Amino acid sequence: MRSDAATVAGWGRVSAPGREVRSDDLVRLTDGAVLSRGLGRSYGDSSLPPPAVREVAGTALADRVLAFDPATGRLRAEAGLSLHALTGMLLPRGWFVPVTPGTAFVTLGGMVAADVHGKNHHVDGCFGAHVEALRLRVADGRIVDCTPERDGDLFRATVGGMGLTGHILEVAFRMQRVPSAWIESESVRAAGIDVLLAELERSSAAWPFTVAWADGVAGGARLGRGIVHRGRWAEPGEAPAGAPAPPRPVRVPCDLPGRTLNRTTVGLFNAALYRRHGRSGRREVQSPYRFFYPLDRLADWNRLYGRRGLTQHQCVLPPERGPAAVRDLLELLARRRACVCLCVIKNCGNEGAGTLSFPRRGTSVAIDLPIDDGTQALVDALNERVIDLGGRIYLAKDAFTRAEHFRAMEPRLDCWTAVRRRWDPELRLRSAQSVRILGDPA
Ligand SMILES: Cc1cc2nc3c(=O)[nH]c(=O)nc-3n(C[C@H](O)[C@H](O)[C@H](O)COP(=O)(O)OP(=O)(O)OC[C@H]3O[C@@H](n4cnc5c(N)ncnc54)[C@H](O)[C@@H]3O)c2cc1C
Repeated sequence: MRSDAATVAGWGRVSAPGREVRSDDLVRLTDGAVLSRGLGRSYGDSSLPPPAVREVAGTALADRVLAFDPATGRLRAEAGLSLHALTGMLLPRGWFVPVTPGTAFVTLGGMVAADVHGKNHHVDGCFGAHVEALRLRVADGRIVDCTPERDGDLFRATVGGMGLTGHILEVAFRMQRVPSAWIESESVRAAGIDVLLAELERSSAAWPFTVAWADGVAGGARLGRGIVHRGRWAEPGEAPAGAPAPPRPVRVPCDLPGRTLNRTTVGLFNAALYRRHGRSGRREVQSPYRFFYPLDRLADWNRLYGRRGLTQHQCVLPPERGPAAVRDLLELLARRRACVCLCVIKNCGNEGAGTLSFPRRGTSVAIDLPIDDGTQALVDALNERVIDLGGRIYLAKDAFTRAEHFRAMEPRLDCWTAVRRRWDPELRLRSAQSVRILGDPA
């Protein structure tokens, strides 16, 4: 076993005293543990131990592929296997995961626990929709194999359950056959939020992968201007032979001073990005590493936010409220002169099977904010608006939501809690986030 001392941190640099204990033997590692974590790419405190506990089980060394059937794409692997390693292994052989988040530095366990979604949510749903079986260590120490049919309640509560229903030891799911290892992509510029949302909607009707970047600090007529990206796997005749090599990331060498990212610097950067794209659309065949993981090219990019770090507020707003709901949120941010360093908008498809999974039909808006003394008040204001609009937030990104706000936006909570309590009546499995948001014992 290996352990890292001092503090455990989420990607946004919110931290808790404690250490991550790692081993390649997950059965031994999780014996008595209150929480597992993967590569710590959740932004907030979902992978941090509760206040009275000093250790979390770090799964990243348990990364063996246990079975792969090239006839069907069925794969079974240990929960600590990273998406980066899996892609390196199988993309050159014509396989890719059915759903990928915006970074490859996540583990299979983390992908299940957050039930991650990608640019193809509107057609393929979340990662959990492609998972066929899970091996879990539940709170009383037993090892349970569950599927959508066998102990289906536990399976569904674990998919998107943020590690609170059991330690995920193994994941079985289907990889997807891809026609080439490259992405045929297009991007178009949109001068304001209404055009951007209309373009995103049009793109999602025709393309499997869509996402929009919006300038989160431009105001007035330029509110929500941005670039819509869309893509599909290239056919062999359209793509270079072979698979692209993963890029070598450039490291951010040190923490930048706290206020380096402010509305002025971000505004200048965004204006340059918007102008550089040009008026006419762009088309290219590109590496999936660049298309799916643009931020992975800059390792430790969270250091750009200084020592206090960042939080991401990601919500999904129901379609009934239409584009006006997104505009409403952006106007709130503009009125409060929030320093929105990154704003990403996606279309979500139908709600999946995960009892507490984040996505539902509608529009997802994710904004990155540097943490400062005003963050709590800003997140409170955003959450009040999300509740009014009938939306909900994504726990994998959250570090500031109040328990009463979460309850108000989550009518599914009682159902999920009932299953959790059946498998863990004493609430042994918990996290810093579950103490904050669900009122678990510290
Ligand atoms: C740049 C960037 C882009 C991102 N883009 C997206 C995106 O597009 N879509 C999306 O959905 N998410 C996205 N995310 C969030 C990320 O995909 C999730 O937070 C994911 O859960 C992180 O995986 P991890 O292995 O690092 O898990 P961690 O962050 O270590 O843990 C996350 C949660 O999973 C639980 N967990 C981890 N492993 C296990 C296990 N073996 N057993 C039980 N519970 C476990 C933890 O307890 C915790 O609650 C992004 C994150 C970053 C940094």
